Amino acid sequence: MIYDIKNETMKREDMENLQLEKFKKILHYVYKNVPYYKNKYDLAGFHPSMVKTLNDIKKVPFTEKSDLRDAYPYGLLAVPTSQLKRIHASSGTSGKPTVVCYTENDMEVWTECCARVCVAAGLTSDDIVQVSFGYGLFTGALGMHQGASRVGAAIIPASSGNTERQAMLLKDLKATALVSTPSYALHIAEIARKLGYDIKKDFNLKLGLFGSEASSEEMHIEIAKQLNLFTTDNYGLSEVIGPGVSGECRKKKGMHINEDHFYPELINSDTLEPVKSGEVGELVLTTLTKNAMPVIRYRTKDICKLDYSPCECGRTTVRMSKILGRSDDMLIIRGVNVFPSQIESVIMDIPEIGSQYEIIVTRENNMDRLEVRVEVADASLLTDYKKLMDLSNKVKHNLRVVLQIDAHVKLVEPLSLKRFEGKANRVTDLRKKS
Ligand SMILES: [Zn+2]
Repeated sequence: MIYDIKNETMKREDMENLQLEKFKKILHYVYKNVPYYKNKYDLAGFHPSMVKTLNDIKKVPFTEKSDLRDAYPYGLLAVPTSQLKRIHASSGTSGKPTVVCYTENDMEVWTECCARVCVAAGLTSDDIVQVSFGYGLFTGALGMHQGASRVGAAIIPASSGNTERQAMLLKDLKATALVSTPSYALHIAEIARKLGYDIKKDFNLKLGLFGSEASSEEMHIEIAKQLNLFTTDNYGLSEVIGPGVSGECRKKKGMHINEDHFYPELINSDTLEPVKSGEVGELVLTTLTKNAMPVIRYRTKDICKLDYSPCECGRTTVRMSKILGRSDDMLIIRGVNVFPSQIESVIMDIPEIGSQYEIIVTRENNMDRLEVRVEVADASLLTDYKKLMDLSNKVKHNLRVVLQIDAHVKLVEPLSLKRFEGKANRVTDLRKKS
């Protein structure tokens, strides 16, 4: 099923014409209505009239998270606050959050985009959806809630936390679809088993719509196995709109970007130049249709690939790969670029260890030290020294193959590492920043 046939199956040429028109319009719009953009563009010697083709877009100055912080709370608003219908904020790791505002039009765009993502994943009006994202200022829960509701599904706004109750609700209310972070889905499965539920018999789940954190394909395979459902990945960020930017279809060959609303580019984070077709780069997004707080060439810091070939599902919209990492999250260890997602894919592939992990980076005698902590699947292994060493060496070996560097591996008891109810935070970098 395709939710919006016209916009999701457009010919490439028509899509590009549409994007160019919208891009020009939004540039003039922010130049006229947002003094912050006007000042920034004037200082950079840029004027919206300089964009005549899609190729000219690379002349437009980038917007960064720091711009959103500098303009806190309403400095990037293009409309009076009287026109706002909703205000969300992203969790700021330090200091003030970044605020995102929606007009009635923006709410409609957001809802439609989330509905497209839900339908691409296979959701229908017959489904019962448990939304186990935290409700509140965070865009994830209400965004997916609105999208699933638009499709006509029944919503259980469970929010996150109280995992034992989550498991009980899944069983009693017979939810057929789960919205959560991938790490929370695994945690729910673990608690459900601990409580004695038989997931295959007791749960009625068929579909998982997972987002809000980067996850490897191996992680999805693990969740599919543990919760006995079909998993899909979707992507969004509150600075841009929230969820609804892109989502996987049932072919699972990338997340279709709603590119009539969000114009994607990939750049090299160092040179800021566009990467060559098919290469990995940092995703840059422009909101083509938002009124309250458009963002122009926003640097997401998320690293992915783009595939413009038409998909077997019938959609022609560009597909982004899973997020390979954030340029912020990339660890440089002994001069080698390491993404936590690479470590995750190794861990998920070894059945003798669990699906939780922690990454700790320290510096000893001027040398970076990478430690990966993982739980053994079966506690009895911890008392069998030979088996333990064999397993530890296997993990080490597989990590070396993928990362090209040596890691220290620490195998720990089942259920001893930290669990996450929302976004997982598995990396601790204790090296002194100099
Ligand atoms: Zn597809």
